[in-house]
Amino acid sequence: MNPYSILELNFGKGKIQKDKNISSYITLRTETVAEYFIEAETKEDWLTLFHLTHEHTIPLFIIGGGSNLAILQNKINGLVVRNLYVIKEVVNDTAQYVDLLVSSGYPMGRLVKETAEAGYEGFEYHLGLPGTLGGAIYMNSKWTHPLSYAGDWLIKGFLIDNEGALKEVDRNYFQFAYDHSKLQETKEFFLEGIFRLQKQNPAILKNRSQEALAYRKQTQPFGVATSGCFFQNISEEEKNRLGFPTGSAGYLIDQAGLKHTQVGDFIVSPIHANFIVNQGEGKPEDLIQLIHLIKAKVKEQFGVDLKEEVRII
Ligand SMILES: Cc1cc2nc3c(=O)[nH]c(=O)nc-3n(C[C@H](O)[C@H](O)[C@H](O)COP(=O)(O)OP(=O)(O)OC[C@H]3O[C@@H](n4cnc5c(N)ncnc54)[C@H](O)[C@@H]3O)c2cc1C
Repeated sequence: MNPYSILELNFGKGKIQKDKNISSYITLRTETVAEYFIEAETKEDWLTLFHLTHEHTIPLFIIGGGSNLAILQNKINGLVVRNLYVIKEVVNDTAQYVDLLVSSGYPMGRLVKETAEAGYEGFEYHLGLPGTLGGAIYMNSKWTHPLSYAGDWLIKGFLIDNEGALKEVDRNYFQFAYDHSKLQETKEFFLEGIFRLQKQNPAILKNRSQEALAYRKQTQPFGVATSGCFFQNISEEEKNRLGFPTGSAGYLIDQAGLKHTQVGDFIVSPIHANFIVNQGEGKPEDLIQLIHLIKAKVKEQFGVDLKEEVRII
């Protein structure tokens, strides 16, 4: 039986799509087709999908909000699953804090707003972070003014391992660091997690959110097709070697004179040099060329090997 029939048999007609253009699910809007595509809405959907793809050796690729992806291929073989599993529930309520169970498909924007309004401290600086909670945990997405990571308040995670089994782990398991969680190595799926959030005055949290959003709007291009910061910031040692005031990759790219550089429809943003923007119908081959150009120029000028922050597929 082919993968399509196996998946259709389990999920019913119409749920699985073949050769689906997924560009609208990726914030950089690159034109890419998924061989098979489905949206997972429940825990059971996810468990079934992992079980089937493992049993029938079907390659599986997960998309949350698609906001940290640079897809450099015209087609992804196997099954692409978009995460629409959205639940949130207080599982423990004390005078000082709540333990909040949140599913991986929860949109970050909604989570930030709802927790701030409820007076639960922890996510408020992430207002304006696109994507899902799952993507943010996988990447340990951050805000740097002040420093705050998506994984900071996680106390327990529920994963699906590569054989489709459910697994409960504590926060140490994730080995959170800058742009890093262990899931990037294990390829396990973050299904949901429990976050311990201290109680705080909602007005204070709302204020912090608005400050973070205002800073974003001041320093980043808004309302454009992009995957956010494309390259990782450099280390403290490299920054000191170069005598630069900041380790921001955007600063290096700017200093290399690359703002406005364009290949096809992809351009280095004139507002923030670490943002690559798709101005229309950017093709994967143009993006590849622009990435090479940026890396080569920064290497030539500063001896720095820039590393991608976005996931290159
Ligand atoms: C305008 C803009 C601003 C941004 N600002 C920031 C910022 O301030 N800070 C920052 O750190 N990043 C930022 N980003 C990058 C991006 O938004 C974050 O990394 C975000 O958390 C990714 O979430 P996502 O759901 O979109 O992940 P996706 O892009 O869908 O996926 C990213 C990776 O995670 C994997 N993945 C997704 N969900 C799961 C899961 N549940 N379990 C296991 N693996 C999973 C995917 O397979 C993929 O490899 C920005 C991006 C944009 C476009």
